[in-house]
Amino acid sequence: MLNLVLFGPPGAGKGTQSQKLIEKYGLIHLSTGDLLRGEISQGTELGLEAKKLMDHGVLVPDEVVIGMISNKLDANKDAKGFIFDGFPRTVAQATALDELLKSKSSAISGMIALEVNDDELEHRLLLRGKESGRPDDANPEVIRKRIKEYNDKTAPVADFYKNQNKFKSINGIGSISEIFDAIAAVVDAY
Ligand code: AMP
Repeated sequence: MLNLVLFGPPGAGKGTQSQKLIEKYGLIHLSTGDLLRGEISQGTELGLEAKKLMDHGVLVPDEVVIGMISNKLDANKDAKGFIFDGFPRTVAQATALDELLKSKSSAISGMIALEVNDDELEHRLLLRGKESGRPDDANPEVIRKRIKEYNDKTAPVADFYKNQNKFKSINGIGSISEIFDAIAAVVDAY
């Protein structure tokens, strides 16, 4: 199985590049942000609780997202592999993901990190807020909180994969196709 973690701060381009990766490699895209927004639009209890946190730019509890990923892995037993987008976002999530995959005799092939500076992220997210109507993209204060959450809680996840020799970083500034070619070169080497 080919299991990729696409990593990077909010606005780094993970969603955009995931779409191109699923087309090229036939993988299943698992975005915890998309799954949570799906729960919100269905009006589930989980969605209502998550929305309160997401609207403030803070992470939802580990057990909530780990449970969602576990369900998706079980529901896609015959998959060629997965792209994890926006997950794991804490070291506890990364540890849980390793355990979930191990129980299925699988593992993460590698983490690919998209590097983009904070000014460019804020600019991209505000633009996305205007285009997509995502409430957490529309407010500069919430955007800065999300970037802070990333720096405090999510950035350490890179070390988790560096310690396993599974970390590669890519310049996330450039055209979508240039960045994709750089990612594909890494994936092809796995
Ligand atoms: P995203 O679409 O990945 O930018 O996620 C939007 C929001 O959903 C984040 O700001 C968090 O509040 C929440 N979220 C998404 N993925 C996770 C995760 N793996 N752990 C905790 N919270 C998450």
